[in-house]
Amino acid sequence: MECDGRWLIPGLWDAHVHLGQWALAARRLDLSQTSSPEEVLAMVARERSSRPAPGGRPIVGMGHRAGTWARQVTVAELDAACGEVPVALINSDCHHGWLNTTALDALGLARRDTIVAEAEWFAAYPLVAERLEDPPKAADYQKVLGEAAARGIAGLVDFEFGAPWSDWAKRWHEGCDLLRIRWSPYRDQLDSVRAAGLRSGACLPGADDRLSVGSLKIISDGSLGTRTAWCYQPYADTGGFGAPNQSDVELAGLLAEGRRAGLSVATHAIGDRALDTALKAYAATGAHGSIEHAQMTTGHSIAEMARLGLTASVQPAHLLDDHDTIDQVWGGQADRCFTLRSLRDHGVKVALGSDAPVAPLDPWLTIATAVHRGLPGDEPWHPEQAISTAEAIAASVDGRRIAVGQPGDVALFDFDPLTSDAAGLRAMRAALTCVAGRVVHSEPLPGLGRMSAGS
Ligand SMILES: [Zn+2]
Repeated sequence: MECDGRWLIPGLWDAHVHLGQWALAARRLDLSQTSSPEEVLAMVARERSSRPAPGGRPIVGMGHRAGTWARQVTVAELDAACGEVPVALINSDCHHGWLNTTALDALGLARRDTIVAEAEWFAAYPLVAERLEDPPKAADYQKVLGEAAARGIAGLVDFEFGAPWSDWAKRWHEGCDLLRIRWSPYRDQLDSVRAAGLRSGACLPGADDRLSVGSLKIISDGSLGTRTAWCYQPYADTGGFGAPNQSDVELAGLLAEGRRAGLSVATHAIGDRALDTALKAYAATGAHGSIEHAQMTTGHSIAEMARLGLTASVQPAHLLDDHDTIDQVWGGQADRCFTLRSLRDHGVKVALGSDAPVAPLDPWLTIATAVHRGLPGDEPWHPEQAISTAEAIAASVDGRRIAVGQPGDVALFDFDPLTSDAAGLRAMRAALTCVAGRVVHSEPLPGLGRMSAGS
């Protein structure tokens, strides 16, 4: 194939995606530009009045950042803004929902006057799509997979909630077979995984090695935005420490169960205390896998991750949303957050991702933020923890290289990422993306026409 002087890199990976939620995000009321509960309530009221009465479809919104607000919200005020149709508003960190009473009833949740958070929320979260929206269809998946391929993505790890492997096996045959997918179960899917004899790395029944089983996903603590990430120091605003989602014994039991089932384990740990606790569980059980987020580290936890051979699966773009909140509520500890430089320097394998829909499924936003630690033109936030563009790309290719004998997963670009500035990195679009030797995205190339497999 004639590439006309373009730049070739291994196909990119996003190591942490909730693909069904990302496919739905475009349809939801976008609350990401709001900065107070009042603005959100006004948007919901406007949305309601723009829809023809009577009745009206449920309103599902997402992307507001309650962690930056000065006060807690109530169900009563959402009822007052829009009580007659179900309203479910998903916080940007996806760790809680603000629901009106009609939506609480529709999802079978107990009535209350507060948000629904953490374990209760994660159980209810898939029901939002099932009961209040049209669940995403094959065409919705094809659209977001195509957009990912256009950015040079060849594979992603899907941590969708409440999603059995059979959903992906079916979807695969409905034409959603553009990229490599590593389907990753939660505890609620373990029985079906065992029944099908699936282990990490196995192909899903009926598919080839592009659709495989990833790790058992465990959520061990909460998030910064919901003030539930489990920390040694109290949050400056709430005085709380966050909380674990399981006792130490339960967590180790889950890891051991995953290991017995032949699965690697991906443990969500955001606070420093959650991270230490998770690492003890890996050490005690001999489980392998990754720490998801590893947002707040200590020197000890970094050394432990290296010793145990665990991957730190980090989402740098979260720092764009979080750095002001970190400065405010984790005061004095900001130098221990998003510590990509320290992780790499201490030999921890780093895998970058987006956590879409928390941040957009855009590897170049991820890479640019890992390198520049801010928006283009911004003063970098804790630049001592920045990594180079070459390191960020190496942390985004699932260990692949351009070499004979490697899978035919490659992406071709018009510009050299290694000499691009922050704005240039964020604007990167692939001229061509191949997965297992098959062209899954191509731009018409001047003088060459559109490239196809084998050309
Ligand atoms: Zn996630």
